[in-house]
Amino acid sequence: MDNTISRRNFNKLLFSGLAGSSLFMSATPLFASARKARVVVIGGGFGGATAARYIKKLDPAIAVTLVEPKTVFHTCPMSNWVLGGLKTMQDIAHTYNVLRHRYGVEVVHDTATVIDPVKKSVKLKGGQSLAYDRLVLSPGVDFKWEAIEGYSRQAAETVMPYAWEAGPQTQLLRRQLLALKDGQNVIICAPKNPFRCPAAPYERASLIAWYLKKSKPKSKVIILDEKEVFTKQDLFMLAWERLYPGMIEWRSASVGGKVERLDPSKMTVATEFGDEKGGVVNVIPPQRAGRIAVDSGLTDASGWCPVNPATFESLLHPGIHVVGDAALVGTMPKSGTAANTQAKSLASTLVEQFGGPKNGEHHLGSLCFSLIAPNYAVSVSGDYLQTPEGIKDNPADVHLTSMEATTDQLAGEAMQSLHWYKNISQDTWD
Ligand SMILES: Cc1cc2nc3c(=O)[nH]c(=O)nc-3n(C[C@H](O)[C@H](O)[C@H](O)COP(=O)(O)OP(=O)(O)OC[C@H]3O[C@@H](n4cnc5c(N)ncnc54)[C@H](O)[C@@H]3O)c2cc1C
Repeated sequence: MDNTISRRNFNKLLFSGLAGSSLFMSATPLFASARKARVVVIGGGFGGATAARYIKKLDPAIAVTLVEPKTVFHTCPMSNWVLGGLKTMQDIAHTYNVLRHRYGVEVVHDTATVIDPVKKSVKLKGGQSLAYDRLVLSPGVDFKWEAIEGYSRQAAETVMPYAWEAGPQTQLLRRQLLALKDGQNVIICAPKNPFRCPAAPYERASLIAWYLKKSKPKSKVIILDEKEVFTKQDLFMLAWERLYPGMIEWRSASVGGKVERLDPSKMTVATEFGDEKGGVVNVIPPQRAGRIAVDSGLTDASGWCPVNPATFESLLHPGIHVVGDAALVGTMPKSGTAANTQAKSLASTLVEQFGGPKNGEHHLGSLCFSLIAPNYAVSVSGDYLQTPEGIKDNPADVHLTSMEATTDQLAGEAMQSLHWYKNISQDTWD
């Protein structure tokens, strides 16, 4: 892999991509009035916080209200590093102070409960109602607890954490790893595609193995997978052979990876090839768009929100735009970078539609680093094209770490992943 390519790509994605796609845009501003245009954004994660920030940055005259229940947002990116003991919860924590004080976003710490697309208003759990001209939704994912027999939110919160949202779940899983007895195994149950961050279960297995190798060398990680193949598989397998021989066992669906049932009281996972017992059992359930999107009729049979590929406007409710993990966006993966670039594209589109300044060219992209050990990371990145038929890979711009990458190059990628995290955090919250 040419490391400079991913760095170039990543800087391009984060910092130069800001404009609307005039190809698909109406020439008439959709809002012309003496009153300020009002945008409400639901969800203060990668997609929502970026959208709120960039709308204000591009046109401070637009009134932007961000609704997010958390006062401190812990990122999923780097939460696997916390599990391995390489970072702390403080390292992945972000507040909304910069959005509020530097950009003038009104941040309301509450939960949106009902959207009225006809009256164009959003009701909050606390009783407040917010009127909007355009609504942006980036509520992330919801979890299908019912999809696995024996599993439930309660089981996840007490004994078999999912840790697919960062925060208390990350801390619970970390505590369990610390309490694990040497010789007990860690089981990770990985879902079918599509789900949030396709590489993250395998990064997690790697960083848990890194911790076990130092602290509990008789233990190992067993991945029970609903899939037959996974992203960056050859790169992960090569790294596991080199760094953690015999410590990570991956079972695909056809060789016993498919989970049939869980028994949280016994810490067992039943598969068609028999029961597996874990000292720690991390179950990542299948997912759909965040609940507010489902409840508001913004999802189709896939469980995700179909959107116009140029404007991210819902195909089911006009006036509402969906970005991030919740949206159906062609071949783009559900990643933080994808959400960030979609949100910037949307911000630019909305500002232009409200009659604000035009903002040049923009890029949709994704860049996903996976840390396998402190000095060893691999990555995949790509640009995407917004076409009238949908969002598609740009075949000229897909990059994957080479299987022949040198030790220095792999260590270089680990450094770049830290830079990526710092830059995307600064581009979103900090
Ligand atoms: C372990 C792990 C590692 C990952 N690593 C990476 C990585 O290295 N690189 C990468 O690019 N991506 C990574 N990801 C993926 C990344 O975290 C997601 O793709 C990204 O968070 C999606 O952004 P989002 O805005 O759609 O959702 P989120 O960032 O989850 O934000 C959604 C927000 O909406 C809020 N919300 C939900 N419902 C409501 C409501 N009704 N009212 C108000 N607010 C609401 C939630 O509280 C939440 O804060 C990782 C994911 C996991 C699980």
